[in-house]
Amino acid sequence: MQSARKTSRSSSLDTLFLSASDITHILACKGLGACLAGMADYIRDDFLRWPDFEKSARTASHSAQGVIELMPVADAHSYSFKYVNGHPGNYRFGLPTVMAFGVLADVATGVPRLVSELTLTTALRTAATSALAARALARPASRSMALIGNGAQSEFQALAFHHLLGIESLRLFDIDTAATAKLMRNLRGQGMEIAACNSATEAVRGADIVTTITADKTRATILTPEMIAAGVHINAVGGDCPGKTELHADILRAASVFVEYEPQTRGEGEIQQMPLSFPVTELWQVLNGSAAGRRYAEEITVFDSVGFALEDYAALRFMRNAAEELGVGQPLDLIPALADPKNLFALLDPATTTAQLKGVRAA
Ligand code: NAD
Repeated sequence: MQSARKTSRSSSLDTLFLSASDITHILACKGLGACLAGMADYIRDDFLRWPDFEKSARTASHSAQGVIELMPVADAHSYSFKYVNGHPGNYRFGLPTVMAFGVLADVATGVPRLVSELTLTTALRTAATSALAARALARPASRSMALIGNGAQSEFQALAFHHLLGIESLRLFDIDTAATAKLMRNLRGQGMEIAACNSATEAVRGADIVTTITADKTRATILTPEMIAAGVHINAVGGDCPGKTELHADILRAASVFVEYEPQTRGEGEIQQMPLSFPVTELWQVLNGSAAGRRYAEEITVFDSVGFALEDYAALRFMRNAAEELGVGQPLDLIPALADPKNLFALLDPATTTAQLKGVRAA
């Protein structure tokens, strides 16, 4: 189906634009639970094709306030990249910590086929990836989760674990009690038992899964070893760039650690605290059965998530297909249409009318 679409469009210059409202509309039509499950399937399918992709660690531009990153990946058919930032102090300006957009292009011609918002989509794909990893790594009977960091990503994490793993009870903690109150409001009526806690220690007590998704550009220790019981799965999402961590190094020493793309995570994840010889397993190997996930009930497992470009590639594919199915989105006049592709200069000729250009585009 995907290649048939590509063939039919390959002679045109059409670029589809999906705005933030378009993505909201898709989520409203299909339902958030179905989108999280569908996106997890797309991510799993692309992780199972791991060797097909040209991969690289993202390029980051750091400042005192945060980071701006470009995340490319490609297979033989499609190329994608995401622009994304991480500015933990942005709330002071009324801005989100994380904002993003991305492109999906044809490898054969380089034509950009899709330009899409990825702020909301990143929250979904991050949560879907966390749940996908936890399905392979957490104890199957896990029903309770501590959620530390109750900001923009937190509802999506909570709902992905509810819909994809059957998490029924949540224990919340954030240093900002207003963020926790917001999360409790937004999750009302979703069928989960929710408790606000006074500390991370209190939140973690008795939880089968612990998700850390805090934002602070520092070497934080949100979790220390004595807080972690045998058998717990830790979904460590907030530590995702150099100098930014959430776990005490002794937790990593006591655990089996799983990563997305090792060359990127070595510099950005919790394992930036560890020597290069510290053993980790890439998630795609667990998903295809070539490496073990959880080996025994008492094992402590850590998904050291930093966010990898392939997840955005999958998320863009999911949203493009959903948009086509629902007839959502706008054509974007991004690439000039030319009667003679070697005569770009003709665009500056006053005699080259918009009507002529439209004629070329429609041909
Ligand atoms: P946000 O700013 O909306 O929320 C972060 C929350 O963390 C805030 O409410 C803040 O009060 C809280 N916090 C900070 N320090 C804390 C502490 N010591 N204890 C408890 N709570 C604390 O940010 P967000 O959009 O929810 O993103 C959270 C983090 O996740 C960011 O660091 C971001 O870079 C990261 N992230 C990772 C991925 C990934 O794929 N791994 C994807 C998206 C975001």
